[in-house]
Amino acid sequence: MIGSITELFYPALCTGCENTLFKGELELCTACILDLPYTRMHDQEANIIEQRLAGRFSFEAATSLLFFHKSGKVQHMLHALKYKNNQAIGKLLGAMLADELMRSKRFAEIDFIVPVPIHPKKGKIRGYNQAEVIAEGMVERGFFVRAHALKKTEHRESQTRSGIYARYKNVADIFGLGDTTGLECKKVLLLDDVLTTGATLEACAKLLMKIDGLKVYIATLACTEH
Ligand SMILES: [Zn+2]
Repeated sequence: MIGSITELFYPALCTGCENTLFKGELELCTACILDLPYTRMHDQEANIIEQRLAGRFSFEAATSLLFFHKSGKVQHMLHALKYKNNQAIGKLLGAMLADELMRSKRFAEIDFIVPVPIHPKKGKIRGYNQAEVIAEGMVERGFFVRAHALKKTEHRESQTRSGIYARYKNVADIFGLGDTTGLECKKVLLLDDVLTTGATLEACAKLLMKIDGLKVYIATLACTEH
């Protein structure tokens, strides 16, 4: 009841800038869509993500749709996706990522998307895995998803201790392989919402690489610039 009254008085707002959306605009206003900090680095070899991940595990290509700035629009959108049950923004950004990857040379022939898993307990509390929601937006554009190829086995989230090695130690042993049938020799896009140090993606990629002939690609909605 309170919800419907609220909707009556407060029109839909843009998830990026909180301005009122015009008719026909969904989740993001046109100004935000035009003005987001796109990385445009999908076909750029040794882009900043690839430099960050280089030497840690082998991958074919890595990219991100947007740059992440603290307290910027992108952070606002990712926060809405992760903590405010705004799955629509995740699907929209997933579709935008898919459109860009389909036009890129290096990501054009992905066979499957594998979203980074969250622990089932956490999934139950939140109701969804944000990486899977992003993948759903990509599926709408024709990608195929294998949501159970990886699983999270342990619920351990606090990563307050600094240092890449400490973080890696923290995440390396909490993922496992799930149903990987038919993934041999496939091009697999490992997908997550945000990349900072890359420790989570590294742990997941190393597991996937145990599958014969599998090639790992990496994409996230956003990445930090440093
Ligand atoms: Zn906006």
